[in-house]
Amino acid sequence: MAAKFETDYYAELGVDIKAPREDIKSAYRKQITLWHPDKYKPDNNDNFSLEDFNNKFQRIQKAYEVLYNDITRLEYNNTRAVNIIKPISDQVSIREFNKNRNEYSYSCRCGDLFTITTDDIAEGYNSVECPNCSLSIVVCDLENIV
Ligand SMILES: [Zn+2]
Repeated sequence: MAAKFETDYYAELGVDIKAPREDIKSAYRKQITLWHPDKYKPDNNDNFSLEDFNNKFQRIQKAYEVLYNDITRLEYNNTRAVNIIKPISDQVSIREFNKNRNEYSYSCRCGDLFTITTDDIAEGYNSVECPNCSLSIVVCDLENIV
């Protein structure tokens, strides 16, 4: 089973998890200026669409709302530890996987197998959960596969 990489509010603002509130505020101001839909220029957009700008703008606002408030920030940190930090515990190159037709597999510590298909890779999935235990890995070196 594969999961798409989750959005991390800290990564969204480009701040460290220990960043003080002032840093969160200044990072937010910087990002929100950069990604404001008014800044979108069809001729010079670095391959981003107006929709990308809108989405990014909304994610930055959401990240700021959550992280600037000490209570919601603490709640987020707790769920982040479970949803984001824990699963992405290890990186494994796709070259270390065993290939069987269109499926790649790699042995988990628990004895079960991580599996990712070429279809998963083509769709942009890069992390795999073990079907048996809670461990997940990030699969790297995927660019040569598809
Ligand atoms: Zn396992």
